[in-house]
Amino acid sequence: MKALKLKRDDLYTYLESLKSYGELWGPVAKGEKYVYARLTNVRDVALGALRTIIPPKKFFVPPRFTMFRYTDDHYAESFDDVKPRVLFGLHPCDIHGLLILDELFLERFPDPYYKRRRDATAIVGLSCIPDDKCMARSTNTHAVEGGFDLAFNELGNNYLVWIGSSLGDDLVRLNLDLFSEDIEPEDLKTYLAWRRKRDSRYKLSFDLTGMPDIMELSWDSPMWNELAEKCLACGSCSMVCPTCNCYNVRDVSDLTLNSGVRERHWDSCMNKEYALVAGGHNFREARAERLKLWYTHKLKAFITEYGKPSCVGCGRCIDTCPVDINVAEVIRGLTGQKVTL
Ligand code: SF4
Ligand code: SF4
Repeated sequence: MKALKLKRDDLYTYLESLKSYGELWGPVAKGEKYVYARLTNVRDVALGALRTIIPPKKFFVPPRFTMFRYTDDHYAESFDDVKPRVLFGLHPCDIHGLLILDELFLERFPDPYYKRRRDATAIVGLSCIPDDKCMARSTNTHAVEGGFDLAFNELGNNYLVWIGSSLGDDLVRLNLDLFSEDIEPEDLKTYLAWRRKRDSRYKLSFDLTGMPDIMELSWDSPMWNELAEKCLACGSCSMVCPTCNCYNVRDVSDLTLNSGVRERHWDSCMNKEYALVAGGHNFREARAERLKLWYTHKLKAFITEYGKPSCVGCGRCIDTCPVDINVAEVIRGLTGQKVTL
């Protein structure tokens, strides 16, 4: 992977150049939080943003979208909203979140709706210094070696810009004069010092060694009922988690029933209706069962299948859950430590 340097002062000029590839999106402030928004004015970008309220999954699996339109004898898939786009400012944990979605939506059963959006989108990462809710070091998602086209890393008065793909190379060429190949020994020292600073800022940590076994042995733990008594089954944890990907589909027909659209929308296994089947049986009526399923996916099933957890340590569940149930607390409980709920 090749690295170049870009002067910090040239960042906005370069962001402007990226618009010739497609729509430019990045994190912007919304009250005290951050959201991904279109950067009509590149100076609106919040370079110090940490986690956005909703992760970048919304660009690849929109919360609600039309899959296809149908009539009696025809159907046509809909990709009306797919256009070339640059997502700037993705942090390493969110890039890892995307890599997890790639495994699910591009590998065994490729999803054309995801693929079209993924293919049309350039990923430009940005390094970050964690806050007290980040757990990415524990999930080994605090750095990236792939999954991006370009990745910007702080380097004093410069950015170290990693080129991660041939598209990344093309993006650099949109304004090649801004970049320098002169990486000095001093730059390496600055880079390593920055990494040490980043690593020293993680306040929350946990040990995932043997977590599938621990989950298995904890199947009947009273902890699940204790958490379930507090859980509101609101589903917010699923909405904000960069790796949650459950969805539902529904047909919306016109009055003649001869034509309509099939829509797809986010769902959550925390919703009571999620496991309700025809005939009225609900496989996970109890809230404790739904909580257990959510955390089994993150901490057991995905590790068993893919060798890594499907938690990337972004901290959004900590920020979002109204009753403070989150992955850090659950792991504390599972590993025999006192839960502070
Ligand atoms: S764990 Fe928290 S965010 Fe998730 S459904 Fe329960 S109350 Fe809502
Ligand atoms: S479980 Fe929580 S910390 Fe882990 S990826 Fe999901 S929202 Fe982020």
